[in-house]
Amino acid sequence: MLHFSSRFWLAAALLLAGCAGTKPAAVATALPAAPAPAPAPTFPKGVGLDMADIDRAVNPCEDFFQFSGGNWLRGNPVPSYASSWGPRNLLGNRTQDLLRKILDDAAATRNAAPGSNAQKVGDFYAAAMDTVAIDRAGLAPLQPELARLAAVRDAAGLRAEIAHIQQLGPGVFFRFGVDVDEKNTTQYAVQLSQGGLTLPNRDFYFKTDARSEKVKAAYRTYMSQLFGLAGAAPAVAQRDAATVERLETRLAKASRTPVELRDPQANYNQLTVAAARQRYPALALPALLADLEVGKAKNLIVGQPAFFDELNAVLKTEPLADLKTYLRWHLLRASAPALPTPYAEAAFRYNQALTGAKQQAPRWKRMQAATDQVLGEAFGQLYVDQAFSPEAKARALEMVANIRVSMAEHISTNTWMSPATKAEALKKLAALRVKVGYPDVWKDYSALTITRESYLKNIFAAHRWESRREAAKLGQPIDRNEWGMTPPTINAYYNPPLNEIVFPAGYLQPPFFDPKADDAVNYGAIGGVMGHEMTHGFDDQGRQYDAAGNLRDWWTPADAAEFTKRAAVVARHYDAFSPLDSVHVNGQLTLGENLADFAGLTIVHGALEKQLQQRYGSNPRPRFDGFTPEQRFFLSWAQLRRQNIRPEALRQQIATDPHSPGQYRTIGPLMNMPDFQRAFGCPEGSKMTRPAADRAVIW
Ligand SMILES: [Zn+2]
Repeated sequence: MLHFSSRFWLAAALLLAGCAGTKPAAVATALPAAPAPAPAPTFPKGVGLDMADIDRAVNPCEDFFQFSGGNWLRGNPVPSYASSWGPRNLLGNRTQDLLRKILDDAAATRNAAPGSNAQKVGDFYAAAMDTVAIDRAGLAPLQPELARLAAVRDAAGLRAEIAHIQQLGPGVFFRFGVDVDEKNTTQYAVQLSQGGLTLPNRDFYFKTDARSEKVKAAYRTYMSQLFGLAGAAPAVAQRDAATVERLETRLAKASRTPVELRDPQANYNQLTVAAARQRYPALALPALLADLEVGKAKNLIVGQPAFFDELNAVLKTEPLADLKTYLRWHLLRASAPALPTPYAEAAFRYNQALTGAKQQAPRWKRMQAATDQVLGEAFGQLYVDQAFSPEAKARALEMVANIRVSMAEHISTNTWMSPATKAEALKKLAALRVKVGYPDVWKDYSALTITRESYLKNIFAAHRWESRREAAKLGQPIDRNEWGMTPPTINAYYNPPLNEIVFPAGYLQPPFFDPKADDAVNYGAIGGVMGHEMTHGFDDQGRQYDAAGNLRDWWTPADAAEFTKRAAVVARHYDAFSPLDSVHVNGQLTLGENLADFAGLTIVHGALEKQLQQRYGSNPRPRFDGFTPEQRFFLSWAQLRRQNIRPEALRQQIATDPHSPGQYRTIGPLMNMPDFQRAFGCPEGSKMTRPAADRAVIW
């Protein structure tokens, strides 16, 4: 599961053809034909936009974020259990209510066929919700693991234990996975990358401002509390916490920053297992790989070689007792949500320091998320049956096709790209695969045993099953049916090595996608997401992958330089956005997402324009609620990005998240778009109109 967060470029602040086993089919250069014009439908008035949320006291040309949603922002503070609040959360609540009913029904059914998905989902959720049994069992379900770790006596035992814990879920010391080889996308490769930290990323260990010190204090308290709950005397618990912090700080110091991790070439380093064994003797390769069930690997892709130099030194020089303390912490930490109430409460208090949430989310919501995480496709099948229709899929595919045609036009008519680069770009666009709704082939859970006996045992069993499933991919053909998100997920992604865009059914719901809403609203909402994902293939990272998904430079040097120059204008714009005193958006960290927002919205606007032409020809385009279709398009984009967020969460987002805060995702692209200025009649000199000399123009 290693690369899911780093490699999939998600739509929100937070995923076909071709027979596997053969080389990818020769890339077609012709684009799929645009669908035939649909008959002009009659849309009910005003579906999709909330007129009451608009703050008409604000001039749309001065602050479109406040204009489009000011009334809503005032009337919808962040609830006590959340850290931020917006339309995704509202849809999330609706989805959670539906999923809860599915889970309650499954848990109440005691006679599901043994081994069926319904039995597994029902038993998993029932065990997760049984806090009486969990509290009564205490630490007992974790005891076998703690005893196993305590029995480690030497380096060989430690290595086997690291592999064992990796298979139970916690990414101790480093991250491990089997994933598509980015320089040969017809095969899988074993991939090792930096990891092993508790705090969200390496920067959190070194920042010394008051807020960061508060987070570090919460981290120390969290560790002491869990060690104490597991039986350590207070002084011992504190000493153990200090040991973990010392080891994690060593790993953090050798880790790359979030911005450095955005360079795919720098994070691809192929080594033979023999060479890796020489460079990192303390990792005891290839025995470690055999323990991880990938002993047949001949090569490794090491994301961050210097990190593994330091890990090698840590394993070689640190006392065995301290290394075991570190592993014990990560076992406790990963198990906390499945242990008695005081453990989960300690975990919440730590999260509180990061997010500012006032209250823990109710248990059913947390356990629903856990079910989604470990049994996502078994659970997701039950959801799809109720929440996603073939008609919705057809209309979503039609929109993606229209947006693809618009993107091809933008590439073809681009004024700064050479014909050679354009041809490669069009080839890549034509080869892009689209997945909508849910997988064509579901994961097979038959080898996984789930019972009502112990929630923690179920979690470990599921992680071991997933680790084995992933390890078994090595040497197999690429599975192009695989999904990196579950069907109810309210998100989407672009996956560069597979050159695919993926839209789970959970996102194709009102208000993001509403078959009853007019074109302008749907194109501004889910269309904006579709354009965003499609153009990720052409952002500063995505453009480094070719039509077959290989990390290979297909740009002429002059075109690459021109792209970089134009992208730098966008980075500069976002660097200047400052949501809190002394806190600025990081233009480099968020560059790919901002480019996708800007390019996506530009091409989707083009697609809407064609759609409106087809529907209305030269007849006047109807207004709804007093707004033209062009205005409703931008209102729809903005209303879906409105967001209230706690200051703690905002600081964390800016430090860790490649997505800009909602406010800037809303206005950032619009300030560069003449289409927006035309729609609202914004004059030169207004805040929502960048002066021509300062304007970004890419696609
Ligand atoms: Zn994205």
